[in-house]
Amino acid sequence: MKWRGRRSSDNVRKVGSGGGMRTAGALGGGGLIIMLVLSLLMGGNPLDVLMNNPQVSPGQTQTTEYQSRNEEEKELEEFLSVVLADTEDVWTEIFASHGAEYRKPSLVLYQDRVNSGCGAASSNMGPFYCGADETVYIDVAFAHDLRTTFDAAGDFPFAYVLAHEVGHHVQLLTGQLEKVQSMRNQSNYNNEMVKLELQADYYAGVVAHYMQNKGYLDKGDVQEGMAAAAGVGDDRIMEMQGGRANPDNFQHGSSEQRQRWFLRGFEYGDLENGNTFSVRDAQDL
Ligand SMILES: [Zn+2]
Repeated sequence: MKWRGRRSSDNVRKVGSGGGMRTAGALGGGGLIIMLVLSLLMGGNPLDVLMNNPQVSPGQTQTTEYQSRNEEEKELEEFLSVVLADTEDVWTEIFASHGAEYRKPSLVLYQDRVNSGCGAASSNMGPFYCGADETVYIDVAFAHDLRTTFDAAGDFPFAYVLAHEVGHHVQLLTGQLEKVQSMRNQSNYNNEMVKLELQADYYAGVVAHYMQNKGYLDKGDVQEGMAAAAGVGDDRIMEMQGGRANPDNFQHGSSEQRQRWFLRGFEYGDLENGNTFSVRDAQDL
C-alpha cells in the first residue's frame, strides 16, 4: 500500500501507562459511576447520558505519551495515522452524499494497557472500538501479534483492522450499534452481533474501494485484506456503559462470510449494499 508522504490524521494519540493513568482512572471511573447513578435516579437512559457527556472521555485525560520501542512500532504508528486519514476522507464524502455530517473518531495507540471510556483494557483484548468515547484502541504490539499469529503478511492487514474498527464507529453514527447492543439480553443477540461484524467487514471493503480509486493500493493488497478478514478473529466492541468488556464470546461470521462481505464493500464502495440486517438469520448472509 502506498502511504508514505500522504496526509496523516490529527486524531491519533499515543497513550502511555505512566502517571496519567491513575488520574485518568480516578476521574474516568468515578465520573462514569456518578453519571450512571445520576441517570438511574432520574430514570434516564444511561447510554444517552454517557454518550452525550463530553467529560466522560478518560482516554483523553491520559496525556503521558509512550516511547516507541522499535522501528516497527514507529512505522505502524505512521501507517495507521495515514489509514485513519483515509477513513476520514471516505466517510466524510459518503456521509455528505447522504446530506449528513461525519463525526471523526479518535485512534488511541497504547502499550500493554489503557483506560478507555468503556473501562480498562489490556493488550490481550485485541483492537476494539469504544462507543462511549468514540475511539478505536489498538495496542501497538498487536502489529507483531498479527504477523506471527495470523500469518498476515504485508501492510494491508493493519489497514483492514483499523478500517473494520472505524466501521463500528460508522455503525454508531447510523444508530445500528446501539440498536444491536440494546438487544444484549435477548436470545438472538449473537445472531445480531454477527450481522454487525460482517457489516463492519463490508465497511472496511468500502475504504479499500476508495483507496483503489485513489491509486493507493498495490497489487496483492486486496488479497492481504481478505486473508486478514479470514484470520483476524477477535476484536471487541466494548460495552457503552463502561466498566467492563463485552462478556459474550460472540461470533464474527465464518471466514468465507467475512471475506465475501469485505469484497462486496470493495466492489460497491457505498453504504446501501452493506445492509446485513436485511435477513433474519445471519447464517444466510
Ligand atoms: Zn468488529
